Amino acid sequence: MKLEPAASRSARAQLEGLRAGNGTRVLEALRAHQRFVMCAHENPDCDVLASGFALGLALKRLGKDVKYFLDGDVPRNLKFLPESSLTQRTFAGIAGDALFIFFDMSDQARAGKALAWVPADRIVNIDHHLSNTRFGRWHYVDDREAATGMLVMHLILGLGVTITADIAECLLSAIISDTGNFMYSNATSRTLRAAASLIEAGANKDRITEHLYQMRTFAAQKMLGKVLDEAVLTDDGIVYSLVTMSMLAAANADHEDLEEVVGALRAVDRCHVAVLLKEQPDGAFRVSLRSRGRVNVMAIAKRLGGGGHFRAAGAPVDGPADAALQRVLAAIRAEIKA
Ligand code: AMP
Ligand code: MN
Ligand code: MN
Repeated sequence: MKLEPAASRSARAQLEGLRAGNGTRVLEALRAHQRFVMCAHENPDCDVLASGFALGLALKRLGKDVKYFLDGDVPRNLKFLPESSLTQRTFAGIAGDALFIFFDMSDQARAGKALAWVPADRIVNIDHHLSNTRFGRWHYVDDREAATGMLVMHLILGLGVTITADIAECLLSAIISDTGNFMYSNATSRTLRAAASLIEAGANKDRITEHLYQMRTFAAQKMLGKVLDEAVLTDDGIVYSLVTMSMLAAANADHEDLEEVVGALRAVDRCHVAVLLKEQPDGAFRVSLRSRGRVNVMAIAKRLGGGGHFRAAGAPVDGPADAALQRVLAAIRAEIKA
């Protein structure tokens, strides 16, 4: 499906963004190479997967060879994305000259152990994290964009590929997901114009929001209730809660069911920083941090060895639970002081 006139105007505006940015070298790399592997960060979310699928679909339209590497399963709520059935867990069939495109991650370590071996000179880094280290040989990084999917949209337009309905579905999913259904402050007029042009190109907004926000398992909703019930609000505006593996087991829930929880903690009126500590199968923890806008949670995450955005960030934290919580609270207070 061709972009309609109004969408074309918007597309031109997006393209100007690309020319002004650093994406031109990435475009050249995409044009010059024939084989690509799309790579996701650990605990993959909609932005990272949908960005890979959208660019993969576009590169295939140019006759290129595309593989989707994923060290795990596509999360249940993302199986509606076009291409999601094509991910592979091994490097079978991947040629020695293939380029690895890392989406939506601030450093190579975020891709996990399975991709740690990939040498920098074969990596393309496409990302919107404030803390991006510019790893890899080519990078297109812009932290002003709400989603990596926005950068991918610029690239696809730059390649001259028509935004098909499937590509539009992926890109709009990425944008909707990373803006919290257009609720967060990262959803600007530019984001909304891009979203509108994607709907005009065939993306089904209602279907996407249904899958992302209205298909929660009963166990997930019960878990949300339990975590909110146990949450603590401190005098200095920290709202925290902690989920253990045994809590998940008791509720018949898993980590995928925790997606909405930290947002619900942040929604508390007196909350400046929301904290959700999640025990992992190995006994270590991961922390999700959210800010109302006054405190930079990316800086807090960095103190803990993680990263992210000003208002949304994450980090690994060693157990046991008490020590993990104290370490996170100390990092938050140190950052607030600084
Ligand atoms: P999450 O709380 O897992 O939804 O993550 C919030 C944001 O922080 C996302 O943009 C993540 O990409 C980023 N993030 C989470 N964990 C890490 C980490 N260990 N290192 C760098 N960035 C992270
Ligand atoms: Mn992500
Ligand atoms: Mn993202």
